[in-house]
Amino acid sequence: MLNRIDLRGSATDPRGLLPRAQLDVSAAVDTIRPLVEAVREHGFAAIREATERFDGVRLEGLRVPAEAIAAAEGALDPDVRAALTEAISRARKVHSDQRRTDVTTRVVAGGTVTERWVPVSRVGLYVPGGLAMYPSTVVMNVVPAQVAGVEGLVITSPPQVENGGLPDARVLAACALLGVDEVYAVGGAQAIAMLAYGSDDPAGERVAPVDMITGPGNVWVTAAKRLLRGVVGIDAEAGPTEIAILADDTADPVHVAADLISQAEHDPLAASVLVTPSAALVEAVEVELARQVAATKHTGRITEALTGPQSGAVLVDDLEQGLRVVDAYAAEHLEIQTVDARVWALRVRNAGAVFVGAWSPVSLGDYLAGSNHVLPTGGCARHSSGLSVQSFLRGIHVIEYDEAALRDVAGHVVTLATVEDLPAHGQAVEARFSASARSEGAR
Ligand code: NAD
Repeated sequence: MLNRIDLRGSATDPRGLLPRAQLDVSAAVDTIRPLVEAVREHGFAAIREATERFDGVRLEGLRVPAEAIAAAEGALDPDVRAALTEAISRARKVHSDQRRTDVTTRVVAGGTVTERWVPVSRVGLYVPGGLAMYPSTVVMNVVPAQVAGVEGLVITSPPQVENGGLPDARVLAACALLGVDEVYAVGGAQAIAMLAYGSDDPAGERVAPVDMITGPGNVWVTAAKRLLRGVVGIDAEAGPTEIAILADDTADPVHVAADLISQAEHDPLAASVLVTPSAALVEAVEVELARQVAATKHTGRITEALTGPQSGAVLVDDLEQGLRVVDAYAAEHLEIQTVDARVWALRVRNAGAVFVGAWSPVSLGDYLAGSNHVLPTGGCARHSSGLSVQSFLRGIHVIEYDEAALRDVAGHVVTLATVEDLPAHGQAVEARFSASARSEGAR
């Protein structure tokens, strides 16, 4: 079922040899550009047209009424409520420990630099809802934003035919559990454009643009985020999900297959990659895949994802080469199922999140580990982090020098200003001392 890539004996950089999706985000950017432009120019009319086309819903307005959110919470299944409440509590525990404190550095006597961590004012949180529904993503977006102190939280999620054109009822209930009441029934690239540019809304007040957009989504959502980076802040590209598993022959093929399948279940474009020095494990995993895929619910999209060019089994000489391969791949989720798994895990340099040993599957991190499941994909883990409290904060430097401290360093400022041929910079410092000399003389 999985494509085979044999890197044994290969000393070349594996990056270009690894499986990647054919429909990549750059190609999707060109496709959704006219839609994003239309939303900027025509607001609701363009959102309605796209929503009818892609979601099969004719919108009468954008904002979800408060009564619908309250009703969804009232009707929430008790088991789902208990699971969401536990997920919120664990996520809050982890994210509360991440909150940075302001730091003041006394550079010299009379000269300080303080780094203040200030929350972004208004943030748009995307909650997917195409092939699957994601109340858990409400938790993963909202909890760190609230811990960071963001005041304006807006959620948007695709309208569902089955829920009368509103977002999924469990998503709305999760919004209620977390106290978010500004919720819009819009998905896809049109939702990202709406958040970035704002829009008129026949169902209520104008949608005000946000300062930043976070949250995962399919390739169209991710493409819109890439296109609008700069118009608004963007957390990272959290697109179609990926799992890489670094395993040796101590790994249980039942677990390995189950975890590869669990992420393939998200999307036909999801990537499931096994990296191992054990050809026997690959064969055993193939047997398990055939057995387990046939028995699972979403066989069609799982098979498409597992057999797609973005998935595969990569054979390596040993775990050292395997580590180089998973670092080059930079998976959103990386499982280590080897002897001394923790030792290998601590050597990983590129991954959105690392899951150690037999008892930490990605599904745990998707819901209840306490960690965040909004994670960078498509190799972005080489330079970006998953969503965290830090994502919602900006560090503002506050500089405060007194007269003596400035005088002490004035000569260096003038020297560097002269080197850069920016003499007015130097004069801005010198003018203060000639002015203070003047006023001292006048006294
Ligand atoms: P989604 O909400 O991301 O996408 C659905 C929307 O896509 C629809 O509302 C529709 O408007 C739009 N759309 C559908 N077909 C289109 C087309 N041909 N052209 C333009 N727009 C179109 O929901 P989904 O599809 O279920 O995808 C969720 C994605 O989120 C999956 O790929 C999953 O792997 C990913 N995910 C990633 C993370 C992460 O952290 N990286 C976490 C959770 C989920």
